Amino acid sequence: MLFSKSSIYTLKEKPKDATIDSHELLIRGGFISQVSSGIYTYMPLGLRVIKKVSKIIEEEMDAKGAQQILMPAVQPAELWVESGRWSQYGKELLRFKDRSDRDFVIGPTHEEVVSDIVRRYVNSYRQLPINLYQIQTKFRDEIRPRYGLMRAKEFIMKDAYSFDANPEGLDVSYEKMRDAYCRIFKRCGLNFRIVKADSGAIGGRDSEEFMVLSNVGEDEIFVCDNCDYAANAEKAQSITSQDITIPGEIEKVYTPNIKTIDEICKFLNIDNTKVAKSLLYKNEKGEIFCFMLLGSDSLNETKAKNATSSIELFALTDEEIMRLGLINGFVGPINLPRNISIVADKRLEQINNIIVGANEKDYHLKNVSMKNTNAQYFDIRNVNEGETCPVCGKGKLKKYMGIEVGHIFKLGLKYSKAMNVVYLDKNGKQQYIYMGCYGIGVGRCAQACIEQNHDSDGIIWPISIAPFEVEIVQLDQDDKINSYCQNLYNQLNASNIEVLYDDRLERPGVKLKDMDLIGIPISIIVGSKNFQNNKVEIRLRKTKEKILCNIDESVNIIM
Ligand code: ATP
Ligand code: MG
Ligand code: MG
Ligand code: MG
Repeated sequence: MLFSKSSIYTLKEKPKDATIDSHELLIRGGFISQVSSGIYTYMPLGLRVIKKVSKIIEEEMDAKGAQQILMPAVQPAELWVESGRWSQYGKELLRFKDRSDRDFVIGPTHEEVVSDIVRRYVNSYRQLPINLYQIQTKFRDEIRPRYGLMRAKEFIMKDAYSFDANPEGLDVSYEKMRDAYCRIFKRCGLNFRIVKADSGAIGGRDSEEFMVLSNVGEDEIFVCDNCDYAANAEKAQSITSQDITIPGEIEKVYTPNIKTIDEICKFLNIDNTKVAKSLLYKNEKGEIFCFMLLGSDSLNETKAKNATSSIELFALTDEEIMRLGLINGFVGPINLPRNISIVADKRLEQINNIIVGANEKDYHLKNVSMKNTNAQYFDIRNVNEGETCPVCGKGKLKKYMGIEVGHIFKLGLKYSKAMNVVYLDKNGKQQYIYMGCYGIGVGRCAQACIEQNHDSDGIIWPISIAPFEVEIVQLDQDDKINSYCQNLYNQLNASNIEVLYDDRLERPGVKLKDMDLIGIPISIIVGSKNFQNNKVEIRLRKTKEKILCNIDESVNIIM
């Protein structure tokens, strides 16, 4: 590509809203251009990087037998109603109506659409397993879009969905994706850790996140210095409402017009000083609230999301446990909006007769037990740097900040049951399909790479995802130098080396600054001083190492 003819617009000034280096460098290097908050155009350089990352992803996904498709950005609300997410997904879901007043969403993710495809075409065990993936534009109305491509509203994601006949099959599919992800992030030059994750807004139990270690990461992660335990602080502290099933002899009680814990205790003849009120919830902003409202109608999605006064995170003290005698617990409605996490104290498991909202007006469930649920607990007080690892009991937990570049989930039957995604097994019996989903933020990945690979002058791309492999920087103009550079450019192109030729009539200082800013791994710098001695300079961006070589050697050295 000829620099003079390309739309590479570099900037000297730091953009006002760029608070982290990688964001600043993407804008100043002319990789992206902001259209609106969290919405960007990928300029030629940026798009080349996106394509490189995408190609790596495609190669590794294809190698695992996944098939690429492309689903629409616009999805009908009906599918979301079916899965239950129409009411559960918060404001991040952008909803709109078409001219006939039908509801639609711009897809933040594609479980519904892909489940619909599979239920239409797959009916026999012989057609399983399958894994469908796409690289596609998502929209999430993020509450605080920032950091450029890192937390955008519109962003490119690779999302894959696996479908298996049984849990063992799902395990295999999941492991394949885990392996592919490791390979992808390594090839992108990222230093990452795999951590156990909170399953957040998607639901399901087994999930891991791929975290790029970086001070600007938004996720707090704890890593054991002895064993391989690593967890997102979110996970370490919370279980989601979806994780809870309610086993035991449950009694449904009619509790009309009762709005407070004290009232219900009185009504059910429970000593209210013996009620464990240790459940907390988090709103969208991550603020934590005491969970004390009663009834599914009193703690609905709107209320939870609009809650504003956060309170200190707390758990029951040992004394409290003793005093309460672990008789009764109070839990609010089990079917919380899914983007709200419940922070539960593990000792709730010892309480036998918890009362929960029945998700039905004027009813509560009695005698609910948290024992043998599939909820995963963690004693919230134990999550601190330097504390003992909850798994090996020997190592100490160390805190890092991480950028979540990838996320893999075992969804299990969540969507299959909601949307009737079934197949006939060997005996002709209908079974639900086990599903997994696997996401990678393509732009976030590229930007995380910059965050880990830059210096005060600019980006230091690893060759695998660099917009170009080589840059020819022509510092001076004369006929000989012009034709040398042109010839070099043609030769490299002919050898399929991706080359940017800075042929602009700019001052050398400007070109060298842009060279460092854009961060192409190898530069061939052609200036009249060296050229008079039949020399050109080859420079490595990473080490800034300079090699003077003969003008006719440069191509061979590069290749
Ligand atoms: P986060 O915790 O950062 O909000 P998420 O858990 O909501 O991300 P997933 O639903 O797991 O995201 O989506 C899969 C991947 O898509 C993420 O691992 C991340 O790399 C990417 N991603 C998610 N949200 C954004 C965003 N707003 N901008 C850019 N990439 C994103
Ligand atoms: Mg999110
Ligand atoms: Mg997340
Ligand atoms: Mg995630």
